[in-house]
Amino acid sequence: MRRDPKYLIFKDLLGGLLITLKTFFKKPVTVQYPRERVTVYPSFRGRHALVRDPETGTARCVACLKCVQVCPSRCIEVRYEVDPETGARKMLEYNLHALRCIYCGYCEEVCPVGAIVLTEWFEYSSRDRAGLIFDKERLLKNWDEFIEKYPEKVYTNKFWNLKGIPEILKPAPKREGILIKVRD
Ligand code: SF4
Ligand code: SF4
Repeated sequence: MRRDPKYLIFKDLLGGLLITLKTFFKKPVTVQYPRERVTVYPSFRGRHALVRDPETGTARCVACLKCVQVCPSRCIEVRYEVDPETGARKMLEYNLHALRCIYCGYCEEVCPVGAIVLTEWFEYSSRDRAGLIFDKERLLKNWDEFIEKYPEKVYTNKFWNLKGIPEILKPAPKREGILIKVRD
């Protein structure tokens, strides 16, 4: 049976109007940024930072290069020196090209000592490319700026200690939960 085209148009129109009417009385899902802000979920992957050790005041990085090896974008460079007596590595330079990053979080996941994080800070930009190449000092500053507004007394990141990995395979800081004291 052929339907009258006028009937079909009316039916569609009515369907559309009903959806509009139903949505009209619902709470809006959009926010009026920047006047309104959403609460960012814990462990949101935002601006990169090198965690400053609260005891030494320096980066926690031990220059193991795991983040360099795992990064699919090849956007991390680390330079280090080796202590001839102890054989311990000391990180000298850490550069992260944020424009190349795909925010996968592999670097923070693989880091054995919780030294690199993608913080929950998402509002950042630069007028030039150089402004988004973070060196060691900039990454430490990113941490300071993030932690200044961080509301808790200790910081941990769920990517530092993923579920499903046997405890025996985790380095000691990960087994212990890697909690960073932020303030007293
Ligand atoms: S989040 Fe992923 S792409 Fe970005 S620096 Fe870390 S490992 Fe590389
Ligand atoms: S994985 Fe962690 S400790 Fe190793 S080089 Fe990267 S940031 Fe430093």
